[in-house]
Amino acid sequence: MLLSGGIDSATALLLAKETYSARALTFEYRGIADSEIQSAREMAAKIGVIEHRFVRLPDLREAADIPGINFGGLPPTYIPLRNSVFYSFAASYAEETKASALVGGHNRDDTPVFADVSPTFFANLEKAFRAGSPILRSRRLRILRPLGRMRKHQVVRLASSIGVPLRLTWSCHRSGREHCWECTGCLARSASFRKAGVEDPLAPDLGKVT
Ligand SMILES: [Zn+2]
Repeated sequence: MLLSGGIDSATALLLAKETYSARALTFEYRGIADSEIQSAREMAAKIGVIEHRFVRLPDLREAADIPGINFGGLPPTYIPLRNSVFYSFAASYAEETKASALVGGHNRDDTPVFADVSPTFFANLEKAFRAGSPILRSRRLRILRPLGRMRKHQVVRLASSIGVPLRLTWSCHRSGREHCWECTGCLARSASFRKAGVEDPLAPDLGKVT
């Protein structure tokens, strides 16, 4: 299970736990907020995993930290071919632990933006991992994206209904004790909760009547 501090991966983890005993893998790339790492740590402990492993990738940078390169209009948080890197680590971990599935929390809103979350990409990656590993081939390794057909606000609604500890999630691109409510991550979170009709336990104005 690839686990960040976000709502999507926490929801996917809770769903995966219905079928699998899960291990969590969190990537510490350059630019990720410390608060998001902490959130992933607390979420894994709360939901319960066999092991939570952290992979440090300090040389893997977001587009915003790579000056002079145009990534074709992708957002500044884009990491070049990030999912091929992340899932290759996850497949290595799966081989080591003889896992039969890799689970990611990608939702439908990610697909038009990032080519490396497309169904074609994952189908080919699954084939490549099976071809490259007799163990993963015998385990019939699958890459599962349980939220792949859902929009972000639908994920929020599902997360709320199945009891994802939303208070522990982190969506802000900045680090700190609280969300900044100004960055794209925070704005997307606010919009998703509003559209879902779900109260965000982290929202600063929660309980106030306007
Ligand atoms: Zn923010």
